[in-house]
Amino acid sequence: MRVQTATGPILVRSLGRTLMHEHLFIAFPGAWFDPFLKFDRAALIEEAVGRLVELRTEHGVCAFVDPCPIELGRDVLLMKEVSEKSGVHIVCTTGFYHEGLGLPSYWRARNLDEIAELYVREITQGIGDTGVRAGAINLDGRTHCHPAGEEFLAAACIGQKATGVPIITHTTQGCAGPEQQLLLAAGGVAADRCLTGHCCANPDHAYHRRVVDGGSHIGFDQIGYAHFQQDDVRAENVAKLMRGGFRAQIIMSMDHACGSLGRPTTHQLTPESEDRTVKVTGSLAPAYLHVH
Ligand SMILES: [Zn+2]
Repeated sequence: MRVQTATGPILVRSLGRTLMHEHLFIAFPGAWFDPFLKFDRAALIEEAVGRLVELRTEHGVCAFVDPCPIELGRDVLLMKEVSEKSGVHIVCTTGFYHEGLGLPSYWRARNLDEIAELYVREITQGIGDTGVRAGAINLDGRTHCHPAGEEFLAAACIGQKATGVPIITHTTQGCAGPEQQLLLAAGGVAADRCLTGHCCANPDHAYHRRVVDGGSHIGFDQIGYAHFQQDDVRAENVAKLMRGGFRAQIIMSMDHACGSLGRPTTHQLTPESEDRTVKVTGSLAPAYLHVH
């Protein structure tokens, strides 16, 4: 079985040790118009290459999945260049962010077939004219909050079934994973082709069991984010899943970014949780080395 990387297809077994949810760079829509920001692409590439070489040579990490949503500053040529210079495989994804912080109005106006066509095209032919193909589909789990989101979930299902690539999801602060699994199953996607992401914010082992019993992989993929959850709680929950025999379904990653563009912003995560906010700052250090 092969996977598409930013530099071309390789055998899955050649990936080696892989971080399944990290980012090179993110920029919220609109950040590019901020006159006080300066994006130094060369400096970002130099920093990213250094960090990935460190990951590869000191920690044996040979591959890196960057499920950056299309509208969150996804830059596949940046990924390709950093991959070539660092020797670390990078897999990029197709798929939009959620209705609260993303989903450009242009794409909200498209119908299901048009969205699915975009996803399939990015996987089978390439992203724009870059020649880089997406190796997976990113799906944001807050889709149940807004009718617009359901189209994007359905498009992800069509794209998965048409191409066979896996789906990597975000969920809402450790919630909505099982509901998301049901929607994906209803769309005809096999659970074991999915990674239900961001489950580690939830402290409840029973919740984690629902996710693994649902058959998908489970993402403990925001390790180090203390404002979402303490790492010792994450560690206890990983241990419980291991003891329960679910080792093969656990995916550990950090959701860190080497760089981001933008001054600090405060966003509501979901319409119904007004008190939950996330702060996105200029750097999300420590990058990539929190788990080792
Ligand atoms: Zn992420």
